[in-house]
Amino acid sequence: MKIIGLTGGIGSGKSTVSAYLSENAGLMIIDADRIAHEITEPGNETLVKIEEVFGSDIIRDDGTLDRRGLAGIVFSSEEKKTILEEITHKAIREEIDRLLKKAFAANEPAVIIDAPLLLESGLHTICDIVWAVGAEKEVRVKRAAARDGITEDEIRARMARQMSDEERAQHADEIIDNSGDKETLYRQIERLIQKYV
Ligand code: ATP
Repeated sequence: MKIIGLTGGIGSGKSTVSAYLSENAGLMIIDADRIAHEITEPGNETLVKIEEVFGSDIIRDDGTLDRRGLAGIVFSSEEKKTILEEITHKAIREEIDRLLKKAFAANEPAVIIDAPLLLESGLHTICDIVWAVGAEKEVRVKRAAARDGITEDEIRARMARQMSDEERAQHADEIIDNSGDKETLYRQIERLIQKYV
């Protein structure tokens, strides 16, 4: 079973690529962002650990995590940010390992790990191949702003805090250029499916 890591910055088109791979090639997708969200939902032991470390103030009355409050705490303390990342990265990794075992048992030919922070978190080291999706900066800005309903400047500010497409490209086995239309994107994906799956 091939483990393919799929990464890219804000508005690059990762979700569009994942959706195509799932719908047209039937590949199993492991969505790291979704896992990151799920592990901090009520009833999950990761949320209990976060409460133990950061205090019950970050839990709302309805039992859900005050994500904004927690973001504020870790924004102002590098040490607390590291502690939070240690807790969450470990839990995400465990869930990914569980899903990989499941895919292996189901004889999946390949599985896609869709992770914006694939390289930053070291997850690429468990992948056989890394695909990086990129597009011209202003194209990404416009697409992300339109999708999220926020200003282009806010998207640019977020982009400035992320790894650049150029840096990602250095660690990738394949670059998917999503500056063009969706048909052009899909043709590149088809070529990669032929080559790797
Ligand atoms: P993020 O990491 O910010 O969630 P992403 O990398 O998953 O983003 P997508 O959500 O796939 O990116 O794409 C961003 C937006 O751009 C979406 O609204 C998507 O439909 C649109 N989009 C993606 N590729 C193209 C394309 N080739 N042509 C036109 N629109 C596109």
